[in-house]
Amino acid sequence: MSNLYIVLHKRDNVIAMNTLQLIYEGKSKRVYAMDEYRLVMEFKDDVTAADGLVKAVAMGKGILAARISSYLFNILGKSGVKTHFIDYDGKRRIVVKKLEMIPLEVIVRNYAYGSLLKRMPLYKPLQKLEPPLLEFHYKDDDLHDPLVLEEDIIRVGIIDNNMLNYIKEVSLKVNSILTDFFKSKGLRLVDIKLEFGIDRHGEVVLADEISGDTFRVLDEHGVHLDKEIFRRTRDVGALLKAYLRLAERIGIGIEDVYTPS
Ligand code: ADP
Repeated sequence: MSNLYIVLHKRDNVIAMNTLQLIYEGKSKRVYAMDEYRLVMEFKDDVTAADGLVKAVAMGKGILAARISSYLFNILGKSGVKTHFIDYDGKRRIVVKKLEMIPLEVIVRNYAYGSLLKRMPLYKPLQKLEPPLLEFHYKDDDLHDPLVLEEDIIRVGIIDNNMLNYIKEVSLKVNSILTDFFKSKGLRLVDIKLEFGIDRHGEVVLADEISGDTFRVLDEHGVHLDKEIFRRTRDVGALLKAYLRLAERIGIGIEDVYTPS
């Protein structure tokens, strides 16, 4: 456990000062308790691939992922999706609703890519999947997040059928909003990984992050503006270039990314 004294800014006004306790450190984020109902998630510059076996540091990636996530959570919130996003400090930290996480990763696929091509080689790379294909993975690093059936989820009681149906509906809605948004910027959303949690009122809420770490986006030349380049080449510079390009394409300011925080 460690403590961190942080000052969060909102449009240059201090909105909160706290001594925060680190409650979890994952592969790409640190999670701090802000109060009973809120967490601060701090995006690290660490980047991993090959199931966490390949690790590197990409200076500036944390800010970019936090900024892109905040921007996209705002868009989704405005379209009526309930998200955990509350605030952004302008750098690498976001304030979120504290949730009881559902141990599932929901993947929505618009085009065949990545692990789908491995488990079903009859798909052609980038073959359009219409309607989008929904996949569930049980979130467990030691087991490498195995693919599970909807029936498994219900039978073992992770969530009930109603909640599963609601999550499917929201996942498709998120995918459709982001597909349209990226399309308006000349980009193509290939696939996206979503996580959900339950708030203190029992409501299902979209959680975690929405960035190049969790989606694949292609530009008009088929160039990846996401983490794929790092998965393939282990090239940190190329990863940062892809993140910076994505930020530019969707109109997010990046001038201050390399100034000290
Ligand atoms: P990982 O655990 O996969 O290495 P991260 O480094 O991204 O992942 O750590 C962030 C952790 O915080 C994840 O385990 C994620 O499920 C969890 N999380 C995301 N949003 C919330 C939230 N609103 N409330 C509680 N936990 C959350």
